[in-house]
Amino acid sequence: MSAAVTAYLLLGSNLGDRAALLAAAREQLALAAGELMASSALYETAAWGREDQPAFLNQALAVRTTLTPHELLAHCLATEQRAGRQRLERWGSRTLDVDILLYGPEIIDAPTLTVPHPRLAERRFALVPLAEIAGSVLHPVRHTSIAELLAICPDPLAVKPWPGR
Ligand code: AMP
Repeated sequence: MSAAVTAYLLLGSNLGDRAALLAAAREQLALAAGELMASSALYETAAWGREDQPAFLNQALAVRTTLTPHELLAHCLATEQRAGRQRLERWGSRTLDVDILLYGPEIIDAPTLTVPHPRLAERRFALVPLAEIAGSVLHPVRHTSIAELLAICPDPLAVKPWPGR
């Protein structure tokens, strides 16, 4: 347990009923990790790194939590497992991916956890949903807002609003 902070998570899925998997993950994380303060719309993005696989649905969440960063990570991994996640290959298809993008203003560089997420500033599929719910939040390493990072992001992959929830 620690003082309450706002953590930002990114959900992703490109296998099975993607929207239902994200909805179940939202519910589980709200129960296990803290109060769900905000959730972005769903966005569809071509798979990054491997283009021969189905497109991802992504969604950012803001969770007010008293869990430590590692406790929160454990809940993220447990939520992935409950969705039937198997780690087969890097950048491969997955039923559910849950990443910690930000944990308040903290900078964490531990063997199993890096926060802010190391690839956040280079991934449009993370910045677009995050900017929707945290555009003015500062990236604690870049000292730049999420909206500004999105404006200068060189990632060419299109991130399209998905017409469902
Ligand atoms: P992947 O599912 O391929 O994104 O890798 C998940 C692993 O990355 C987890 O088991 C974590 O130990 C590690 N990891 C490091 N930093 C983070 C982060 N910010 N959010 C989620 N997982 C992280």
